[in-house]
Amino acid sequence: MPIKKELLEILVCPLCKNKVKIVGADKLICTNDECGTIYPIEDGIPNMLPPDLR
Ligand SMILES: [Zn+2]
Repeated sequence: MPIKKELLEILVCPLCKNKVKIVGADKLICTNDECGTIYPIEDGIPNMLPPDLR
């Protein structure tokens, strides 16, 4: 299930507050090169927890 564009526009990386973008079919990546944290999309819902808290 693809993520909604409207949702993507309001999502930010919880670690550095930068925007995220879609990579592949089911992942988001932080657009801050120094952060670059990847967030999985599960059933169309992005899991925006920092990796340490998953
Ligand atoms: Zn980040």
